[in-house]
Amino acid sequence: MQRIGVGLLVLALALATAVLAQQQFENVEIKAEKVRGNVWMLNGTGGNIGVSVGEDGILIIDDKFAPLAEKIRAALAQIGQGKLKFVLNTHWHGDHTGANAIFGKEAPIIAHTNVRKRLAEGSAARNVRPAPKEALPVITFDESLSVHFNGEEIKAFHIPHGHTDGDIVLLFTKSNVAHLGDDFFAGRFPFVDIDSGGSVRGLIHGIAHLLEQLPDDVAIIPGHGPVSTKENLREYYTMLVETTEHVRKQMEEGKSLEAILQAGVPERWKSWAWNFINEERWIRIIHRSLTGQRLDFPVPRGRDGHGHPHPH
Ligand SMILES: [Zn+2]
Repeated sequence: MQRIGVGLLVLALALATAVLAQQQFENVEIKAEKVRGNVWMLNGTGGNIGVSVGEDGILIIDDKFAPLAEKIRAALAQIGQGKLKFVLNTHWHGDHTGANAIFGKEAPIIAHTNVRKRLAEGSAARNVRPAPKEALPVITFDESLSVHFNGEEIKAFHIPHGHTDGDIVLLFTKSNVAHLGDDFFAGRFPFVDIDSGGSVRGLIHGIAHLLEQLPDDVAIIPGHGPVSTKENLREYYTMLVETTEHVRKQMEEGKSLEAILQAGVPERWKSWAWNFINEERWIRIIHRSLTGQRLDFPVPRGRDGHGHPHPH
């Protein structure tokens, strides 16, 4: 009897959540914003979509949530008449791959090997069910891949153990635009999905590498937030290094997690908190990511100033 009661309650909650989610998506506006050259960005709820538009047709990077598919389609129709030819996924999370099952029927999906693996398996830790076959990437790679499209080479690189273990970042070589997926949350604390192979130190190394590799005047599409500059990325990097170092030092001194939470992040970075990743959650992510690792050496200082020490 009690079990039935709990079951009904769970069902009612699930339904209420679904209705709420539907309503949330109904009010979402998806706008296309020109970034530079062939490249556009679709903003609105979910991860930012990068778009290449031109004579070869349309290529999209990430596809938000399934209930937004028609709004995405409408926004794309406003900027180009060509057909959808390729879909890329920056990583496996549902706010970036949610409409895969819809767009995957129209164009091949390209992603890192671990994106296909994690979508196919689902995740108990994140309460995500295995995705259907049509939502899975059909072209996968481990290190790097290029798509030659709309008159330019679009390069994709794997960032090992950043936000997840299947992250790729993309560079539109002629338009001079990069899409960094969730390795870059513009102006706010990032989510690092440790259960999906993410790592705070790995993320720091990945961003240090990008600061060396990306052109100085590149326009950057973050996973979440507005189009940014390399200077914005450098500040994000400094935040990652300083907040991580702050937690690491206290762990090395033997302080408890409670005491570290109490101390908070350095004053300069407090305003980077937001509703999803507040100060406490960011500190918990750093702490969990560093737990079990060697603490007796500092995180790389990298290029937040004018120096050039390389962390690798
Ligand atoms: Zn994500």
